[in-house]
Amino acid sequence: MQAGIELKEMLYLIARGIQDWKKNWMHVPDSFYKGHSLFIKHCFLSNNRHPNNLYDFIHLLHRPSAEWGIPALAEVFPNDASFLSEGFGFSIEADDFLEEYENPQEFDQSVMKEILLYCREQGLDEEYRKARSFLSQPENAVLTYYNLVKKLNVFENLKVKEHVFSCYEILANSLGNYRQCPHCGWTLSLIKGQWKCNKEYLCEYFQSNANLKEFSFMESEKVYRLRAGIQRYVLLTGIFEENLYQRLRQYDAILYPDIDQFDIQVQAGEKAINIDMKDYKSPKTLANVFNNKSNHDLEKYSYDVYIVIPDYRKQLNSRYVEQFYAHLQQVKHKYIKLMTERQLLRKLKEEE
Ligand SMILES: [Zn+2]
Repeated sequence: MQAGIELKEMLYLIARGIQDWKKNWMHVPDSFYKGHSLFIKHCFLSNNRHPNNLYDFIHLLHRPSAEWGIPALAEVFPNDASFLSEGFGFSIEADDFLEEYENPQEFDQSVMKEILLYCREQGLDEEYRKARSFLSQPENAVLTYYNLVKKLNVFENLKVKEHVFSCYEILANSLGNYRQCPHCGWTLSLIKGQWKCNKEYLCEYFQSNANLKEFSFMESEKVYRLRAGIQRYVLLTGIFEENLYQRLRQYDAILYPDIDQFDIQVQAGEKAINIDMKDYKSPKTLANVFNNKSNHDLEKYSYDVYIVIPDYRKQLNSRYVEQFYAHLQQVKHKYIKLMTERQLLRKLKEEE
């Protein structure tokens, strides 16, 4: 277990190092050196060759992690995935890993965690729910500065308002370089001759990219969009949650019942069932989320709680659920019930 914690720390240091390095290429950040040193240590402990210089090291980070020479890593990171892709960008699996990593502040998606912690501390259930639904709406994905500031007035708490504002970034290029995503409302960029929305191109799966629209703002306006991590982990997930919530209305569904304990609560006959929606590309990353929790923390899942993955995950990988259970530690099986949206609907029907 101790090794697992250190390996997570290593991946985090590498990620933070790369993030900072991109701001100033003349200076290799300390965190990157620290990550590299831990990497060498773990290769050495496994009696494997380690990358001596930064060039070899970075090259290796583009290879599936099974080739890194650290077998224990499979506990914390999918062994068929690389950490970097296309230059110095994080792979989807690395993004998913960072989304689950507990403490870092530097990555986009962690702003949402700060909002969560703050609202939990202050007992601001309603503001939290508001923030999450604000960021889950496609019409709020790209806004002019003027409209953004105006819309943020729905928040009563100043701190929450500031946090939500920091989920946005100013558009780096002029408007003509983007089209509007028909699924999530975010920016499509032209990549190798095709309009793409963020990394995993999930949106394409739901809506065709024919007849794309340009944004109708004036060139002179300052335009803001959600930061990429927020688009991926709050907006897209929010759209799926909202969708499932609508399909569950007949069961008196509630969205975000207690400050982020679970995503949706429904009534099936006499009992309340809680749903936790999880949307990760790799079933191994998802299994690791639970493998890395103590049995005590998993206790809350033992009663009527279902972990639900969007149906399209199973359409993209028909063995998703089996691969998840194969990777989940045996002792955790009794706590976790994983199913697709469709399986959930069938189950609820049975309970009626
Ligand atoms: Zn999109």
